[in-house]
Amino acid sequence: MNIKRVTLKSPIEEKIAWAEEYYRRFGVQFHKDRSIVDLLNKLKKAIHASHSEMTVAGIARICRECEQDEGGSCCGAGLENRYDWEILLINLLLDVNLPQKRHDPEGCYFLGKTGCLLQARHVICINYVCKKINDLIDPRKLNTLREKEGEEVNTLFLLHERIKKMRS
Ligand code: SF4
Ligand code: SF4
Repeated sequence: MNIKRVTLKSPIEEKIAWAEEYYRRFGVQFHKDRSIVDLLNKLKKAIHASHSEMTVAGIARICRECEQDEGGSCCGAGLENRYDWEILLINLLLDVNLPQKRHDPEGCYFLGKTGCLLQARHVICINYVCKKINDLIDPRKLNTLREKEGEEVNTLFLLHERIKKMRS
């Protein structure tokens, strides 16, 4: 490929450029692979289940109010550096438009006006619970959410593995 090969330490803009170029060249191949298609469908369902659980548990409302009234505080600049290009490729396979610039100078590169712009997120983003949520939400509800998130994390791992196998 005519762009620089990236590592986890590369700037996020380079990882995005690499993932987009890779998707342009090999996206069709990935979309034709039965395992990838099945895992993407499984991941979509798992993400939907986690999001629904966050709404049922009341977390989505607390986060919305926190973002509106206090500017949130959990998606700070630099967190995007945890992302490797494969998870960005998975987002492209899920039809996500990756941002071409940072919206909030103090926020994560993937933080949009109404929250996270990604569908497939890093495990640290999936599992993060701040003190406010921990204090306000019934632990049983948090456990139910953890179970749903576990499915999301496992499916992402399997997708990563399948992508690596297809590249080798
Ligand atoms: S996780 Fe916590 S800090 Fe982040 S938006 Fe929700 S309530 Fe606010
Ligand atoms: S949830 Fe999204 S916006 Fe927040 S830190 Fe993670 S990737 Fe960035």
